[in-house]
Amino acid sequence: MSKLIALNVKCPHCDASLMDRNNRVNDMPSIKLNLKSNGKEGVIRLCSVYGCTEHKGDMVFNENDLVDFYCPHCNEILNSNITCKDCGGDMVKFNCEIGGVVSICSRSGCDNRYAMFEDIEDAMRRFHREYGV
Ligand SMILES: [Zn+2]
Ligand SMILES: [Zn+2]
Repeated sequence: MSKLIALNVKCPHCDASLMDRNNRVNDMPSIKLNLKSNGKEGVIRLCSVYGCTEHKGDMVFNENDLVDFYCPHCNEILNSNITCKDCGGDMVKFNCEIGGVVSICSRSGCDNRYAMFEDIEDAMRRFHREYGV
């Protein structure tokens, strides 16, 4: 896919939107998450463009740190039992508002991510309707 696709994601536990429209990354609403790593807590805002690894946050990570991600609404952990094929870390799972699931690797420095749509054509149709692109 050559076009930039911005994903609107929500918590798989409480169904609340994780989008933060007041804090933009790459001029898109960011994905706001709480996180914990090495006993420290913080907030991160991920770029919502699929495939983009840019983010803003108040935590500094070492390469290879494993990070636990939490929903800022219900505080449930978003790390799943799916293992990253690249590094063996946990994959963090979100639900997409247009249907389907997006996962990112919880390890700092690992850029593995994927999106899964039950019906990619249907999801794209809904996406085009919603965003007019
Ligand atoms: Zn939640
Ligand atoms: Zn990984």
